Amino acid sequence: MTHVSTAKEEAASTGDLVALRSVDKHFGALHVLQDIDLTIARGEVVVVIGPSGSGKSTLCRTINRLETIDSGTITIDGKPLPEEGRQLARLRADVGMVFQSFNLFAHKTVLENVMLGQIKVRRTDKRQAEERARALLDRVGVGAQADKYPAQLSGGQQQRVAIARALAMEPKVMLFDEPTSALDPEMINEVLEVMQQLARDGMTMIVVTHEMGFARSAANRVVFMADGRIVEEAAPDQFFSNPRSDRAKDFLSKIL
Ligand code: ADP
Ligand code: MG
Repeated sequence: MTHVSTAKEEAASTGDLVALRSVDKHFGALHVLQDIDLTIARGEVVVVIGPSGSGKSTLCRTINRLETIDSGTITIDGKPLPEEGRQLARLRADVGMVFQSFNLFAHKTVLENVMLGQIKVRRTDKRQAEERARALLDRVGVGAQADKYPAQLSGGQQQRVAIARALAMEPKVMLFDEPTSALDPEMINEVLEVMQQLARDGMTMIVVTHEMGFARSAANRVVFMADGRIVEEAAPDQFFSNPRSDRAKDFLSKIL
């Protein structure tokens, strides 16, 4: 019997969890993503850096289909992103997202925030959802805040709740878009430590951040973007000590 390998099998065999091929996107006349090729292996931590406006957030948003693309393909665990409907909701649940602004539901308690998606999208029963929510809140160090409302928590605590909420969906990959940029300096480390632990636990992660200490210690690979393109990809040591492109050299000279 002949056997034609499917995209799914191919992705499984290469271990790529996220694959973008020739992805292009415009906002009107602005070519915001230009011919993006990017693969992320299972368990890999990729840090995306680059100047403001280079397309980092848009890249993240295309990966969980908050933005459509004009051409190219994006696959998650071998499956192309569906256009819409329940399939999209399920696939989106495979991609956890943490934003700069914490985006918690203000009128729900911390515990409810972490239970809601499990019940509505994953169809988890309530008792099990609560059990998982409490365990995750403990894991990110905010178990004692479970019955409070988001506004009663510090920014660092709220962002850790947002991480717990994303993890509650049992995502295959976590996207972080500048998760510490809105935090007071003394709260940045408590969030980065949770992310470090997640990386050590083997989570596949795409992290947009200006925290170069995190990039050096947690990233397997740094992706440098400028003007909608991936200009350079390298191991963190190599990238920081010996960037190849002038754009990267210029960027690093401004932030380091
Ligand atoms: P970064 O996250 O690297 O700062 P973004 O992906 O947010 O970059 O934005 C890239 C470019 O796309 C910017 O010039 C921004 O103004 C523009 N842009 C982002 N979102 C939209 C949108 N919804 N409509 C029009 N332009 C947008
Ligand atoms: Mg951004």
